Amino acid sequence: MDLNLLADLLYPDIHTLPEDMEKRYPPRDLPADAKVTRFAPSPTGMVHFGSLLPTRVSERLAHQSGGVYILRIEDTDSKRYVEGAVENLIKTYKYFHIDFDEGVTESGDKGNYGPYTQSQRVEIYQTYAKELIRAGKAYPCFCTAEELDAMRQAQEAEGADPGYYGKWAKWRDADFESIKAELDKGTPFVLRFRSEGDPEHKIKFSDLVKGEVTVSENYMDHVLLKSDGIPTYHMAHAVDDHLMGTTHVVRGEEWLPSLPFHMQLFKALGFRLPKYLHISQLMKLDENGNKKKLSKRDNESGVSYFREKGFPAASVEEYVMTLLNSNYEEWRTANPDLPYTDFPFSVKKMSPSGCLFDMDKLTDVSKTVISRMTAGDVCAETLEWAKDYDPELAGAISADKDYATRIFAIGRGGKKPRKDIAMWSEVKDYVSLFYDGMFRKTDPWPEKFAASDIRAALVGYLDSFDYADDSKAWFDKVKAVADSIGFASDMKAYKADPGAYKGSVADVSMFLRLAITGRQNSPDMYEIIHIIGEERSRERVAAAIKELGE
Ligand code: GLU
Repeated sequence: MDLNLLADLLYPDIHTLPEDMEKRYPPRDLPADAKVTRFAPSPTGMVHFGSLLPTRVSERLAHQSGGVYILRIEDTDSKRYVEGAVENLIKTYKYFHIDFDEGVTESGDKGNYGPYTQSQRVEIYQTYAKELIRAGKAYPCFCTAEELDAMRQAQEAEGADPGYYGKWAKWRDADFESIKAELDKGTPFVLRFRSEGDPEHKIKFSDLVKGEVTVSENYMDHVLLKSDGIPTYHMAHAVDDHLMGTTHVVRGEEWLPSLPFHMQLFKALGFRLPKYLHISQLMKLDENGNKKKLSKRDNESGVSYFREKGFPAASVEEYVMTLLNSNYEEWRTANPDLPYTDFPFSVKKMSPSGCLFDMDKLTDVSKTVISRMTAGDVCAETLEWAKDYDPELAGAISADKDYATRIFAIGRGGKKPRKDIAMWSEVKDYVSLFYDGMFRKTDPWPEKFAASDIRAALVGYLDSFDYADDSKAWFDKVKAVADSIGFASDMKAYKADPGAYKGSVADVSMFLRLAITGRQNSPDMYEIIHIIGEERSRERVAAAIKELGE
């Protein structure tokens, strides 16, 4: 058969050759050990939390080695395309500092290896496809959906492997005339790879995360170009990663079964195989403590959930690092102030079996991250979040940012900063006591004390209260109030003989705390009083006295 003629008949509009493409996309001028990685999402809508793992791995590999990180949009499956998905994913990854050097951006393509959207690269794929036809490594298949269905049924009946191969591959050895006849009729066709593989042949392959993997050779004649001329993932993967100079392909482990085919395809095209890192899906524990995949139905599977809850990007990034490298936490303890980009990320420290998502751990990590932020940053980030998710809080903060910053400054700085906040959606509860509009008494008066005693403590406090007192003088007065109503001011004396007192100064402080903050636990009282001011703190104690007196 004249394969050149066949190639021209199948793709008459393609006049370019692989050499033209190789010239258009020359090898990159980078140091030998620089890694070129890419993230290649399909714009299907939701951004999965789990995708923050491979994206961070690729980002670290590229940027740690002075390489390049590319964003490529794999939109060859038009059925799965969701409007606005590309913009959304660009914004989302930007938020989490997954910084791409090249590829699709909000304002168009950036870089010399584009276009970076696969639907705009059809000429390139067809150029290589045509070359495969000329080399006898690809052929058209005119099977209809019904024929393929019938084939599957027959295979099932025979107990044969499903797929297009061997004796089932109807068009594999078709002669030129039959192909031409179908083309003349205008019958749609797909282009298939002519596999020379043998399933009995085992090949060894080394995945940088999974280690050595033994797989069977591919023997299926998979589709390379669909009937509309658009490539399948496999063809686009080979061509794009070759031309873009990808050195390391980081992708989900669901692609591992396709690897034998990819290895064949790269070879047939004369491309060097990149290194692969297949990443396991993120797991979580279900109600019964069993591991299961973090699926689309789980709230936490979508990145948007964490935005809504108000986990700062820095917390999520920190958590992802703890998931990715087993020695990260140890490094962090030794280097509390360094950016995570200083950590020597290593593929060798990744778990081949994947990671377990743990909300409690993320919350814990986030509390530490937030406790180390400045009050100004906490204020600014909370405000950004609240503008989208809590207008009342946004209004309160933006009305007086200095006031809000003073609230966030409580217990901040120093060796052991307070760890009250894990996410911005918790801030309202935390700051509400500082705003009359949001203030609510949430905890009840303790039942073990007589209302009259609590009342007496508050009355005594108000009588001697002087806003100008320093914290020591202020607390001395609280102690004096305790003594005056039969509560021990000295904790040692109280512990030695609790029965001799109605309670202790700790209880008197708690009464005050309840009156002023509405709850039993709060940051430092003296600081709170000096943020909310004299008048407001007096008013709250007076209101409590009134409540208790009724
Ligand atoms: N578009 C593919 C996916 O979303 C990309 C896989 C890859 O990184 O090669 O799964």
